[in-house]
Amino acid sequence: MSFDAVIAGAGPAGLSAAETIARRGRTVLVLEQNHEIGSPIRTSGGSFIAELERLGIPAELYHPIRRVRFLAPNNAAHFDYPQPTLCVIDVRRVFQFLAERAIRAGARIRLATAVEGPVLENGRVTGVRTRAESIEARVVIDATGYRSTVLKQAGLDPGFARFGAGAEYDLFAPFCDQNEAVLIVGGAAPSGYAWVFPWGRGRVRVGVGIIHPDHRGQPEKFLDRLIDDLPRLGVDLRGAQAVEKHAGLIPSERFARRFSGDGILGAGDAAGHASSLVGEGIRWAMYAGKMAGETVADALDRNDVSRAALSAFEKKWRRKFGLNLSLAHRINQRIARWDDEKWDRRTEILKKLSPEQFAEALKTNLTGVWRAGKWGPGAGK
Ligand SMILES: Cc1cc2nc3c(=O)[nH]c(=O)nc-3n(C[C@H](O)[C@H](O)[C@H](O)COP(=O)(O)OP(=O)(O)OC[C@H]3O[C@@H](n4cnc5c(N)ncnc54)[C@H](O)[C@@H]3O)c2cc1C
Repeated sequence: MSFDAVIAGAGPAGLSAAETIARRGRTVLVLEQNHEIGSPIRTSGGSFIAELERLGIPAELYHPIRRVRFLAPNNAAHFDYPQPTLCVIDVRRVFQFLAERAIRAGARIRLATAVEGPVLENGRVTGVRTRAESIEARVVIDATGYRSTVLKQAGLDPGFARFGAGAEYDLFAPFCDQNEAVLIVGGAAPSGYAWVFPWGRGRVRVGVGIIHPDHRGQPEKFLDRLIDDLPRLGVDLRGAQAVEKHAGLIPSERFARRFSGDGILGAGDAAGHASSLVGEGIRWAMYAGKMAGETVADALDRNDVSRAALSAFEKKWRRKFGLNLSLAHRINQRIARWDDEKWDRRTEILKKLSPEQFAEALKTNLTGVWRAGKWGPGAGK
């Protein structure tokens, strides 16, 4: 079996890459280890409406948020969005929508097939190995998420050592406010944060993320405490019960050392493309998948899949997003060390932001907020 491109992993990065390459008339196979796209869920689905529109995600697949409450231990900031900017996606349906779009474009998806590693010939990646067989490909894209199975074995990157570790209940909570998302920092989620993300029809994702190894706490323990505390914080969980329980990891580092090589690219979490500011990676994975897919299609058109040709993706990504994503990482490293008192003080800075600026900061448009003068050197000292 031989394909122009084989993609390991059918998350948002892999599916977006597959659609892009298939649209350019190339043969693409996506291998997914699980039996179902988008399941089990390992993400909370917070995102941004304008970005999702740009990515062609239909409005019925996300739930708009009209208010964000940011809670420090003894301080709070509120942001209202009469015209919603933020949203929470229906994760399973969005990921399956991406799969449908890739299939319509001509990509093939094979479920229940784990990629064990790359096939290497004289240092070049020429395909992938599964338990049953080897599959030839002119280009392989590693979109396996935080494990970065193929990039590691191809010797491009040693893998990640710092992760956001999350645990979450997806509740049916009939009285919980469906307009309001809540972000909680400080002792409730040391080195990370906790969240309440409504996503429609009475459903609410309540979770805790902790940065490992900055803090050694297990998010599950903090999650049960959080559920007990939420009514005191104004979150109405009367009659609520969990319908699903989720857990997952997201790399919380700079990009992979290298995410392009001879016959191989990495995209999405596999290459560290998420924003580590708040552990937000779904739309970044879609952008990375699209950009990687365009690069692969261009390289195939020129009949050159060498590292020199494929590194166009790496250069473009770094040029377009490098500064904001590096700043996000530096800020995350710093805030992961803040104690309750520091969070209380720093919340005063957040209070100076307009709702739009707060949303832009969450979106990792940090240079934009910086330019607006609210987050620059000296702010809030
Ligand atoms: C607890 C938690 C909460 C989060 N909340 C948010 C949020 O609110 N908003 C946001 O934007 N982001 C959030 N993220 C991050 C977001 O989920 C990821 O950044 C995003 O899913 C990355 O997409 P991806 O396609 O790169 O990888 P993934 O979504 O991880 O997809 C990788 C796919 O590859 C498959 N796979 C793995 N190994 C193999 C293999 N060897 N062979 C074949 N298939 C394989 C996996 O099964 C999976 O389907 C959160 C992450 C966590 C852990």
